[in-house]
Amino acid sequence: MKSRSDAFNKSKKADSFRQYQLCQRCIMDTSDREIEFDEKGICNHCRTYEKLAQQYFLPGVERQAALNRLVEEIRTRGKGRKYDCVLGVSGGVDSTFLAYEVMKLGLRPLAVHMDNGWDSELAVSNIEKFLKKLDVDLYTYVLNWEEFKDLQIAFLRASVSDAEIPTDHAIQGVLYKIAVQEGISYILTGGNFVTEGILPQSWTYGVWDWKYIRSVHQAFGKGELKDYPHYSLLNWVYYNMVKKIKIVHLLDYIPYEKKEAIQTLGKELAWKYYGGKHYESIYTRFFQGYFLPRKFSIDKRRAHLSTLIMSGRMTREEALEEISEPPYSQSIQEEDKKYVLKKFGLTDEDFGKIMLLPIKTHLDYPGSESLVKQLKIFVKLARKVGLMV
Ligand SMILES: [Zn+2]
Repeated sequence: MKSRSDAFNKSKKADSFRQYQLCQRCIMDTSDREIEFDEKGICNHCRTYEKLAQQYFLPGVERQAALNRLVEEIRTRGKGRKYDCVLGVSGGVDSTFLAYEVMKLGLRPLAVHMDNGWDSELAVSNIEKFLKKLDVDLYTYVLNWEEFKDLQIAFLRASVSDAEIPTDHAIQGVLYKIAVQEGISYILTGGNFVTEGILPQSWTYGVWDWKYIRSVHQAFGKGELKDYPHYSLLNWVYYNMVKKIKIVHLLDYIPYEKKEAIQTLGKELAWKYYGGKHYESIYTRFFQGYFLPRKFSIDKRRAHLSTLIMSGRMTREEALEEISEPPYSQSIQEEDKKYVLKKFGLTDEDFGKIMLLPIKTHLDYPGSESLVKQLKIFVKLARKVGLMV
């Protein structure tokens, strides 16, 4: 623990001496404290994106063939069962478009939505309406609010920028549980390279790291997390190696243009747009649009817009113009803040103190990062010899 903190203090020291720098190609900057620039001022995210794009953007024919193979595989393994895939739905553009495409492909999904207490009314009505139109069964998992609230507040008090991972971890945990329960081998999610190709780990770490989540709760929460749907590394190995459950980002196999998707969904499913990435949840909107920019100088739009620049969907000038605007209207930010504090049972003073706490990272708390680095080597090997899918 001591050496971890020492390492962090060193990096913090280095940060305070680091001069602001903006990538010359995308709009990522030193708000990612791990960003690296080459002699031309191009950042590591641009370089990584280019490398990965070769894998993700296959020529049309190859991509179609890969999609056909995948769909066939899903159908074959799902034969004789009521559903052949679990479909994670949030109510946002990505997962709604995914549902639409999955039905066009003739798959038989069970849609699963996790209600963490923060869905906007529009999100709930969107989900119900579009699934009814598509004739897809929906399973809604409602989190134990008192417990989850305590965990969310614990992450705020831990003063880390990862305070949305309690939701993302629980979604993953629920999807795995339902897949096992229903004997389904494929989990389809709205994750995709086109809009999410760039996302620095220094901004969000540990969606899979139950040990980290539990340590933060032990340090700042009350009682135990009894109902929270989690999965440990051992569970993960079980789901992957014994149950051979595969998570698929199906949108990577389909031409996906967000603007067109929004139009199609509006026309075909009477679906309504929320105005921002992941703004279907009020907490996410507040967290990404108010809390992260003000406390950590992190603006997640920066990564999203940089991805759009790299995929040729936006110019750097357009992105710079957009990022110079506030994430969303000041008056709604204030309304959201009031709503969030009331729901959490926090006073303005409590929240003010949280905003002023010294910034920490996951390295200040026990977690499984180093173990996972070793596990990754093992997984690579296991996949090579066919022990894992
Ligand atoms: Zn860049």
